Amino acid sequence: MRTEVVRHIDALADEELPAYVYDLHALREHARAIRAALPERVEMLYAAKANSDPELLSVLGDHVDGFEVASGGELHHIRGLFPDTPIAFGGPGKTPRELAQALDRGVERLHIESEQELRLLTTLLGDRTVDILLRVNLPIALGQVALAMGGQPSPFGLDPVEIGRCLTIIAAERRIRLRGIHVHLASGLDATAHLALADDVLSWARDWAHAHRVELAEVNIGGGMGVDYARPDQKFDWPAFGAGLHRLLARHPGLTVRIEPGRSVTVYCGWYVTQVLDLKRSHGQAFAVLRGGTHHLRTPATKQHNQPFRTLPVNAWNRAWDRPEAHNEPVTLVGQLCTPKDVLAQRVPVDHLRAGDRIAFAMAGAYAWNISHHAFLMHPAPSFHHLDHAPVPTTSHA
Ligand SMILES: *Cc1c(COP(=O)(O)O)cnc(C)c1O
Repeated sequence: MRTEVVRHIDALADEELPAYVYDLHALREHARAIRAALPERVEMLYAAKANSDPELLSVLGDHVDGFEVASGGELHHIRGLFPDTPIAFGGPGKTPRELAQALDRGVERLHIESEQELRLLTTLLGDRTVDILLRVNLPIALGQVALAMGGQPSPFGLDPVEIGRCLTIIAAERRIRLRGIHVHLASGLDATAHLALADDVLSWARDWAHAHRVELAEVNIGGGMGVDYARPDQKFDWPAFGAGLHRLLARHPGLTVRIEPGRSVTVYCGWYVTQVLDLKRSHGQAFAVLRGGTHHLRTPATKQHNQPFRTLPVNAWNRAWDRPEAHNEPVTLVGQLCTPKDVLAQRVPVDHLRAGDRIAFAMAGAYAWNISHHAFLMHPAPSFHHLDHAPVPTTSHA
């Protein structure tokens, strides 16, 4: 956590907690580094569903080739902020209205998820044309991943046996231009695993295009670049990934590869900051009850992990009684909800934690606030802070 962020948090009043604090400077540097690691023939879209906070998007807008949206709502949101940036629209279950919106608002790519969706599209085109990718659920073995969305039965994408019928529809439809294939198979892949997958996908796509006489201009290999909540310092190896893609592309001349990461782009820039309201013992175990909870940061409950955090000690204590505290022992960090599922971190060893201390949960920049069940129990919403200071220059001693 940068000093500038710690300082900002220290200056927050208790009533401003919980707070989501976004480090826009860190996000910009991270996005810049990702882009710099990728070969020129790789286009990067940001998957808006990871976090569509307008200020984050505005930072990312300078470093990505476009945005991937998965609903009419996201499409409207992104188009409103970026009138000209390319948008790819994917996701299962697009309604007729959403498909019409995609055409009206000029999406650059439509990712087609089924034959029925393709047929629906043909009824809505009028005199317009549209560029599509067919999203395919390839029969590729995935191994251990955090979230598998393909390579097995799934509601996402086209089964390979369906593709032939789609090609027949497309061949008879001049208004639909097939640019290539889209494959988002899993989330939580490290660079080596993602490259191996990309290799398989590109080979499959080339053979498939050859067999069906399809001109293959583009393959979107999806997002899912892994992040490690247990080891926040172990980031996805973008330089290795970029170098690997560079080698792969040499075997596929003329092909454009697209990626659409979400989590790995924004997860590190967000902090969910709160305060220990109470520290108590129950049947021998220590619990810290925090302001807020999983209705603001649902991620640890859905992913069943301990959300990484750091303690920001607050020394002032102006109550007449002894301050409840824990010393060198495991503490379970829970929120204010009346459910045993409201756990942010379970039996995590702490040196020292007291009522009144602040806790900053790390890796809260993606799939955090926006996937949480805000309305449950009607607690106040957090405050939001977007910090964009560059690091304070350190004075040099000549
Ligand atoms: C969710 C999603 C992404 C982004 O996945 P991350 O794990 O956040 O990188 C990309 N493409 C599709 C189709 C998705 O559904």
